[in-house]
Amino acid sequence: MSRGCGHCGFPGDLENKGQVEYDRRPIDSEPLDDLEVQRFWTLSRCPNCELPTLEAFTWVDGLMDSSDVEFERIFPTAMNNDALPSSVHKQYEAAMKVKLIEPSFYAVGTRRMLEAVCQDQGATGSNLVSQVEAHRPARYPGHAREGELRCPTRPSGRS
Ligand SMILES: [Zn+2]
Repeated sequence: MSRGCGHCGFPGDLENKGQVEYDRRPIDSEPLDDLEVQRFWTLSRCPNCELPTLEAFTWVDGLMDSSDVEFERIFPTAMNNDALPSSVHKQYEAAMKVKLIEPSFYAVGTRRMLEAVCQDQGATGSNLVSQVEAHRPARYPGHAREGELRCPTRPSGRS
């Protein structure tokens, strides 16, 4: 079961780095009073962004099997892309799937996602750059316009 990464949106499986039991209590009612409820934390690493994910799950030996386990994400909270238009979300997911496989495929996927954004927003223009430029001032007024981006300069007086 793929639970994905809440940091970068990577949709694949995370690498399990270990788990620890942090609580164990007997079930305090008949006829299950010979069983115990165990609570675990599990730590995983994203193969894409390498950031950690902490989840918790409950286990009752003798009562549950692995298909009964439900993971509760503690950190980070799950990404919610529900607000994305479906066409943009589809291209985003496709780009994230190939990010680790081949950077050039990821670049193409990112471009397709940007094209989907422009199409969704009704951007007009002869190419992607002109479509983004036409939409940027109204949607992102704090961003630099063309020609305003400059490389940082070295402070004077330092060698
Ligand atoms: Zn990640």
